[in-house]
Amino acid sequence: MIKNALSLRAGIDIGGTGTRIIILDGGQEVASETVPSAWFATLPLALRARALVDKINHLVPAGKTLVSLGIGASGPVNNATEIIENNDTLACFSYYPLVAQLRELLGVPVAIDNDAVVAALGEYHLGVGRGSERMMMVTLGTGIGVALLDKGQPFRTFDGKHPEAGHIPVSSDPVTCYCGLQGCWEMQASRTQLQQTLQKEAPDLRWDANTASVLGEMVATRPRIAAIMHHYGQVVGRGLNTLLALYGPDVTVLSGSAAALLPLYQTGLETILAHRASGYAINRNITCSTLGDAAGALGAAILPTLRGSGPH
Ligand SMILES: [Zn+2]
Repeated sequence: MIKNALSLRAGIDIGGTGTRIIILDGGQEVASETVPSAWFATLPLALRARALVDKINHLVPAGKTLVSLGIGASGPVNNATEIIENNDTLACFSYYPLVAQLRELLGVPVAIDNDAVVAALGEYHLGVGRGSERMMMVTLGTGIGVALLDKGQPFRTFDGKHPEAGHIPVSSDPVTCYCGLQGCWEMQASRTQLQQTLQKEAPDLRWDANTASVLGEMVATRPRIAAIMHHYGQVVGRGLNTLLALYGPDVTVLSGSAAALLPLYQTGLETILAHRASGYAINRNITCSTLGDAAGALGAAILPTLRGSGPH
């Protein structure tokens, strides 16, 4: 029992932009740090796992012991080999035995999954998805991540992978996505894409905790900004429409830094989702993440416990 009181769980959310590390004591977050993911790319390959371990150990309070580590990584993760397979947006941690090295260096159980999956697990167990029968989570960030949980169990492809639903083509845009297809949802509706479009109209707009209120004032007074947000809602809606019709979730959770802007593009979103005859209506119970940017790291932290208690 004393050991449990001193035992901590670590979670890491490795995104295309930032790597967030959190330490949980029981269910409480006691420490966290976010490092630009690009920083790891400046280190020799052989030192990257060690650099992560140093960051984790630095966050562990004196007298406490780490008992497990969970990781959520952006893009494809091979669940059989535990290797990240994402040379496109996470090359610095791809195609090398990161998990095996972390296990050896830390001496504790280490589990890994796709970042959208761990964020969904975080919301399902600790956030707005509690009690959901079939939860869909859509993360609008550097790219678009989608995860579906059926009674808490992640939906997988036949070969055990996480479906990369950000790459559903939603437009006839001839620009080729890095995945090789054209017109991908992610190329239209990621936060990155919104940011680039807004940058042209409002070069001074900063992307921080105040973005929603600053942008809200702009939407109220500048028709071109309002039009950009309306259009953004429509392109988010095109992908959502497909996924809602296919999966039929009872709750859809939006996360990522564009989720907080939902009130500014909700009208555009609803124009796309509302055009259904009653017999073909889709469940439009769409809500924002309550764990925010921490969902991924929190879900990652509980991942080893979940793996130990049932199928995944
Ligand atoms: Zn694509």
